Amino acid sequence: MNQKCQNLLVALVLLLFHAGLGADPELPKLILQITVDQLRGDQPQRYAKHFGNGGFRYLMEEGLHYRNAHYQHANTETIVGHASLATGTVPAVHGMVANVWFDRELGRLVYNIEDDRYRLLTVGADVDDSTEIDPTQRVATGDGRSPSAILSSTVTDEMAIYFGGQSKLFGVSVKDRGAVAMAGHAGKAFWFSKATGEFVSSNYYYERYPDWVVEWNRAGHPSRYGGQSWELMLDRSEYLFGDQDDRPYETNFPGFGRTFPHAWGTADDKYFTTRLTLSPAADQLTLDFAKALIEKEQLGRDEVPDYLSVSFSATDYVGHVFGPSSLEAEDNLLQLDRTLAKLFAFVDKAVGLEHTLIVLSADHGGPETPGFLNELGMRNAHYFKTDEMDRDPAIQRLKSQFGIGSELITMYSHPYVYLDRKEIANQGLDQAEVEDAVAKELMGFRGIALAVSSSALASNRLPDTLLMRAVLRNYHHKRSGDIYVVFEPNVFINDMDGLTVASTHGSPWRYDTHVPIFFAGFGVDHGVVNRPVTPYDIASTLTALLGSKPTSGAIGQPLSEVLDR
Ligand SMILES: [Zn+2]
Repeated sequence: MNQKCQNLLVALVLLLFHAGLGADPELPKLILQITVDQLRGDQPQRYAKHFGNGGFRYLMEEGLHYRNAHYQHANTETIVGHASLATGTVPAVHGMVANVWFDRELGRLVYNIEDDRYRLLTVGADVDDSTEIDPTQRVATGDGRSPSAILSSTVTDEMAIYFGGQSKLFGVSVKDRGAVAMAGHAGKAFWFSKATGEFVSSNYYYERYPDWVVEWNRAGHPSRYGGQSWELMLDRSEYLFGDQDDRPYETNFPGFGRTFPHAWGTADDKYFTTRLTLSPAADQLTLDFAKALIEKEQLGRDEVPDYLSVSFSATDYVGHVFGPSSLEAEDNLLQLDRTLAKLFAFVDKAVGLEHTLIVLSADHGGPETPGFLNELGMRNAHYFKTDEMDRDPAIQRLKSQFGIGSELITMYSHPYVYLDRKEIANQGLDQAEVEDAVAKELMGFRGIALAVSSSALASNRLPDTLLMRAVLRNYHHKRSGDIYVVFEPNVFINDMDGLTVASTHGSPWRYDTHVPIFFAGFGVDHGVVNRPVTPYDIASTLTALLGSKPTSGAIGQPLSEVLDR
């Protein structure tokens, strides 16, 4: 064989080898993981008849629909759900036990992803305490953000390892915690700053923004909503709640009102960006940013699987402010359906849905507004009013038992009561005894279903019930408080640091644990699955499908309907 022939042979072998590597039909080019913040499992089919083509209808009619998926942890809050989706495990393992918890070393409440080592890349994009309506966001003392407090590996982490750093991994959301948790420790996260109206990130991820992010922000997309209003998409008569727009229990947010049209105000109004987040505009902006990201970062263009998480936040804000059974929630979901359709169409063109595995779920469900349930004759539903609690008799009983009363308790921060462990030790008292006594007193209050001592959980001396198991799955010895408080079904605190809201999730009851799970694209067959599954199964399914090892704390089971496609 002469030299020329040899060269040709080598080139041919290289070409075949390369083609062989590149043509793996078993791997998707892109995993698109969508999380709808506060989407209860029943909501998609409830409004199905008004969905257009290509959004929820595509998922429901062409994808796999798991209709009986429930979280199994007790505190159904946003970071807890997102971290569970990303890591495929429970808060006892991934450590995100609540949106905020009391850090005993620091002696203060901390926000789940705050990290003062990693400052925001945009000056002035920090939470503005004077306008921020999400009280959990105001807890962080600095503007730094990172996924460091998430204690388990994520799907993105496993992809980074398995594909030797060649996968592009991103998380996008209006909420910082919605983006950061899903991007994991290895991916990159972008979220919306209400202070600047821009998508921002921290120096955990970048030293400086990619040019396309600077460009996107410079274009001032939010301002196109200036002076406009959130209008109904369909004729009012078409909606289930068309004649129930003005309800007394809906929140009358300044300048936004309780009825359509909801004005966003002018772009220079201090609540302008906040009002955007209380409407479909938030998800439309998230879509715009995600599209730019897919295009500029060239997601799904080569044979190494990439990952994009998009967490849509408006459903949650609208649910809190107006309740899930409101005209606003109904219209918002129909508009989200259009946003999803646009996203899927864009991905189809850029990557091809046959190469894209879509998974959609939610971080938690949500309760009905007590006022709405009262109207339907269910009289037990009510807001739990902490200022109406007569604490004195309980405090007196604790005092007669232990010598001190209110000094035993540091604070209540959903879902935990934190005791003053130092004071308890100084007084020579037994921590477990005090926890049991305070828990017993708490259970005497109307509206409290259960108060569970952490010492009792840790020493396994509680009855083995569904609720206890859910509380145990939420228990992390460093971060959990001393007593877990469960309110009765349809009873919750509706005061978010002064702002009275219509509904608040965070319970272990089925309306808060129930979420939909859809898989579609990448050859997934249509089907409706009614057997019980969990959202923790999603991460296990993705890692199994990719062939990587499971996430470090994985408790989920790979979903066979997806793997056997
Ligand atoms: Zn949420």
